[in-house]
Amino acid sequence: MSQKKITEFEKYTNELKEIVSPSHVTTDPYEIEAATGDLSILPKYHYKFKEEHIATHIVRPNNTDQFSAVMKLCKDYMLPVTVRAAGTSCYSASTPTKGGVVIDVRRMNKVLEIDSEKMTVKCQAGISWLKLIQALRAKGLAPKCYPTSYKSSCLSGFVVTSGAAGIGQIKFGSIYDALNAVTLVKPDGSVSRIQKNSGGEITLADITGSFGIFGGISEVELNVTTLKTSMELVGYGFHTMEQASEFYRLLKSNSIDKPFYLSLSDKKFEGFSHVTIPSRPFFVYAVFYDDPEVTAKALAFSKESADKLGGLEIDKWYLEEKWRDVADVELNLGRLCNNPIFQEYWISDEKLEAFYEEYAPKVKDDKYRNAMYIMGGSNGKSRIKLFGLSDIEKSLEFFGIKANLHKMAQWSYKNGEGIYSCGVVNTFYYHLFNQEKVQHMQKLNNSVDPDDRVNSYRIIKTKMRLWRIKLLFIVAQTLFRWA
Ligand SMILES: Cc1cc2nc3c(=O)[nH]c(=O)nc-3n(C[C@H](O)[C@H](O)[C@H](O)COP(=O)(O)OP(=O)(O)OC[C@H]3O[C@@H](n4cnc5c(N)ncnc54)[C@H](O)[C@@H]3O)c2cc1C
Repeated sequence: MSQKKITEFEKYTNELKEIVSPSHVTTDPYEIEAATGDLSILPKYHYKFKEEHIATHIVRPNNTDQFSAVMKLCKDYMLPVTVRAAGTSCYSASTPTKGGVVIDVRRMNKVLEIDSEKMTVKCQAGISWLKLIQALRAKGLAPKCYPTSYKSSCLSGFVVTSGAAGIGQIKFGSIYDALNAVTLVKPDGSVSRIQKNSGGEITLADITGSFGIFGGISEVELNVTTLKTSMELVGYGFHTMEQASEFYRLLKSNSIDKPFYLSLSDKKFEGFSHVTIPSRPFFVYAVFYDDPEVTAKALAFSKESADKLGGLEIDKWYLEEKWRDVADVELNLGRLCNNPIFQEYWISDEKLEAFYEEYAPKVKDDKYRNAMYIMGGSNGKSRIKLFGLSDIEKSLEFFGIKANLHKMAQWSYKNGEGIYSCGVVNTFYYHLFNQEKVQHMQKLNNSVDPDDRVNSYRIIKTKMRLWRIKLLFIVAQTLFRWA
């Protein structure tokens, strides 16, 4: 009887199934499509639909040992790997770029240990923020910081992106400040624990902002804080960006009680995300979270500062609605057009007005539907998110908006600032403006992933050809200006 010869594809599929169990390995094209995109709402151009990038397998390990065995197998067969959590980051950060295997970490969702005395938690890296928050709450504890996407995202996605802006960073610092240690599964399958000041080649500072290029994180240990007893919300409208920025900075630097969450938005952003909106053009919103006597002082300080700057107090119901919607508010804009376009910038607080002065003329007379949303971050910086609501069918407008956002990125780098989030799409900015970071990360990557198989085309290598991008933006901007 002749034996059927199995292909190499079947061979490694079977081996993957032996490692993680058959129900957690899939080659089904529909499942692959569903688990390889992100929230960038431009399907036509999304990497996940481009044939050369499409993954062949989704694999869901359950623990570090399985994660390591999967990585080793991929190395043995020279398969490209993309490590992925909830896929809520944008710019194709969690999308395959060379096909191969997607390692989905969401099955690794257990809390391993909560130490209430040391105020630390050790957990698997794919745990969702909601699950982690709930587990800590049961012990009277809470994470020090998390993203506003906490309803859908996972811990490891925040650890390897910068984790520098969101909820808690102004009060407690970035995710890097909260990290004690991570367990790293390197591209060859070897496992190492990286602690603060552990002195190895790859440090925790390299891991935060690495976008997974050094391998997969399987476990994380964090410092946590205690649950507080009082939450207070304040919001003031202002006539000018100068007044709003000044108030925003006063709240951010106030030593009595730093905001748990702080934002500055323009009226258009509020208009796109809510039905009834504050009447003034700029709106500063803060949430204080501490013990009652501390939040009471923060409220008094806010009122006094806002009065001096001519701020108009906003109704409490609006403030409550905004806090309830904080996880959805950026997505609300996406419902109002076919293709929301956005870019995120990482700007020093003292340069907020300068950034706005550069941006405002570009949207003067409302050439396109636009909005601005600033969110407080750590280390005297803020994430500015600029939106353009468009439709790829209106290609002049679409590429004109892209060109505007690109100009703001150029401005940011030329003024010593930069963009907030990388991913595949934004990597070319590092190559244009931040060669020092590229070289540092390249050197580390050469030692752990010389074949460049894991999370390729993030930070150290770009998919875009720089001359094409430059040419495209110049043409787009010129045509849009004349249109
Ligand atoms: C409405 C909304 C609000 C948001 N708010 C914020 C915010 O406040 N602050 C902020 O910084 N971002 C924010 N984001 C962006 C995004 O949600 C966060 O970056 C989030 O932390 C990503 O988590 P994720 O689980 O979705 O990760 P994914 O998108 O799956 O992955 C993000 C990156 O991490 C890599 N990765 C994931 N897990 C691992 C792992 N275990 N090992 C190695 N690499 C891994 C992926 O390859 C990818 O490069 C927001 C997004 C939306 C849509």
